[in-house]
Amino acid sequence: IFQKPSQVRDTKVSWKQGEPVPYAALAAAFSEIQATTKRLEITEILTQFLVRVIERSPDNLLHVVYLCINRLCPDYEGLELGIGESLLIKAIAQSTGREVPRIKKDLESLGDLGLVALNSKKNQPTMFKVSSLKVPSVFKQLRDIALVAGNKSQDRKIGMIKKLLAACQGEEPKFLIRSLEGKLRIGLAERSVLVSLARAVVISKLGKSIAKLPQETLASKLEQGTEVVKAVYSELPSYDLVIPALLRGGVEGLRDECKLTPGVPLKPMLAKPTKAISEVLDRFEGQPFTCEYKYDGERAQVHLLADGKLAVFSRNSENMSVKYPDLVEQIPRCIRPSVKSFVLDAEAAAWKKAELNPDTGVEEPAKLLPFQELSRRKRKDVKAADIKVKVKLFAFDLLYLNGEPLLSRPLDERRQLLLDHFTPVEDEFDYAKAEDGTSVEQIETFLERSVKEGCEGLMVKMLRGPDSTYEPSRRSMNWLKLKKDYLAGTGDSLDLVVIGGYLGKGKRTNVYGAFLLACYDPDSEKFQSICKIGTGFTEADLDAHYATLKQLEIGARKPYYDVGDAKPDVYFDAKVVWEVLTADLSLSPVYTAAKGLVDQRGISLRFPRFIRIRDDKAPEDSTSPEQIESMYRAQAVNSSKSKSALDED
Ligand code: ATP
Repeated sequence: IFQKPSQVRDTKVSWKQGEPVPYAALAAAFSEIQATTKRLEITEILTQFLVRVIERSPDNLLHVVYLCINRLCPDYEGLELGIGESLLIKAIAQSTGREVPRIKKDLESLGDLGLVALNSKKNQPTMFKVSSLKVPSVFKQLRDIALVAGNKSQDRKIGMIKKLLAACQGEEPKFLIRSLEGKLRIGLAERSVLVSLARAVVISKLGKSIAKLPQETLASKLEQGTEVVKAVYSELPSYDLVIPALLRGGVEGLRDECKLTPGVPLKPMLAKPTKAISEVLDRFEGQPFTCEYKYDGERAQVHLLADGKLAVFSRNSENMSVKYPDLVEQIPRCIRPSVKSFVLDAEAAAWKKAELNPDTGVEEPAKLLPFQELSRRKRKDVKAADIKVKVKLFAFDLLYLNGEPLLSRPLDERRQLLLDHFTPVEDEFDYAKAEDGTSVEQIETFLERSVKEGCEGLMVKMLRGPDSTYEPSRRSMNWLKLKKDYLAGTGDSLDLVVIGGYLGKGKRTNVYGAFLLACYDPDSEKFQSICKIGTGFTEADLDAHYATLKQLEIGARKPYYDVGDAKPDVYFDAKVVWEVLTADLSLSPVYTAAKGLVDQRGISLRFPRFIRIRDDKAPEDSTSPEQIESMYRAQAVNSSKSKSALDED
């Protein structure tokens, strides 16, 4: 419930109009947020704080928002914090004059480096009064730290962090260290920040007139403002562009000022899993739909900017142009002269050209190669000359063309524009193979063909009408995925984070023999344990996992790992995401995934099997408790067997 401005409290730390926001004021707001778990309260606290920022120091709004979401720039610019634990420990030790082993010991008992820094500072005598930190300078220094590279970069980073820590007062060291780690962990999800931002802008624009507004009118203005900001941000996910526009014209002018723009990748539309063709027909009953091949590659959002620059972005808005120099070179050949700018949604798949078999003398036709071939590619510093596996682009959607966003057009129109403005190029570019299906038999035949040709299955999409628009960042019922695995009864795969390891025995003595996996709950910002996995790995896999994960071992379990009764030998920093298949899901007294959603117990995977590394997904993009809940419930409906068997660790 919104409190009118007369009731807006000032926080403990205030500042004057036109002055930069004190970092202590932001830290005070963070402390207040951390003290509650109620989402409405969190939004309220942040809204009130942002109103003050807008009224007194509007130039600092962008920095404040970035510090709230723990980022330094839009995702696609790729600059990140996430400083390693050992480096931070050294910086805290040097800055507070304490020994490294003591800091490590504190970390083991407190579990949070932010708290360790806070306590270390508290016990340190202050010799002289330090000047108070301001938000813009903290933000700039965090950016500078993230940018340090090259010779002696570790030492230089430690030096910069020491300097910042020395200037910290009160609660500041706690949040500063957590920001450096790359995670604030105060229960502030990005969507709450977006809602608070929208509300704060509406309230500041209303100014004094707010006092006379009836409560319902105010509530509806806040609601509408929030909807506009959310919709615009999903089209143009860049605070660098959205915040200045909000400050200039409020939410009213936002839709006109901020639209999908080539160069700024939007969060892709996602699909819901289905278990049977009959489910597809139930969903689309009587409505026009289309089936497309589901290529097994990597999602590629291709942008042509008005200045002729090309960029390829991943599912996670990472700029992949360096990974795919060959794609960047190929793409201009499939563009017709009528095209000046575009955003294309596509899948990049590994491809083998037609070849003469020297043994048989027969020409083998070109074909799709499995995803694994593509995943062997390095992600950085790829030189065109070193590329062994060819990539072919399969386009399935056109989101922007020649200055005009197409998101709100129906799929059949977008598809027609795609066909009109792009042209297939042998071994380089094609449209996703599609058939506008009607009957079970037709879909079945098309699905079989897709699998035979090396695809994962089909994507089934609403073709016409208002439900066939492109919905950025949504997992929509208007896109269904039908993978061959589902039909075999194994269900959809899950993307899970590796948070623990079990030391190997016997043949696996020198590597980890099994792993503890977790899903991510964005509401509590916790990783919830889901299963122990030891199947699906080749020896080479285990060696490679050991090499990667050994670097990520951490001394103690993080406080935001909700592991239940699982007891791995070591814990890892949550960085690595794996795709995993399971026979089924069951309630578990040991694990905590989706706890409370179906039962007081958590949900676990039975017979989990490793499929592949998902380095295109961040840990926060892993399968959510809600998805696990719906997978569990779907199997209860689909299966006649009882699935309540308890598992043992
Ligand atoms: P999710 O979060 O939905 O699990 P995911 O990246 O794991 O996403 P899948 O669930 O396997 O992927 O299915 C969706 C993905 O399929 C898309 O992100 C895209 O990369 C790929 N894909 C292949 N062909 C198509 C197509 N014709 N239309 C849409 N997506 C396609």
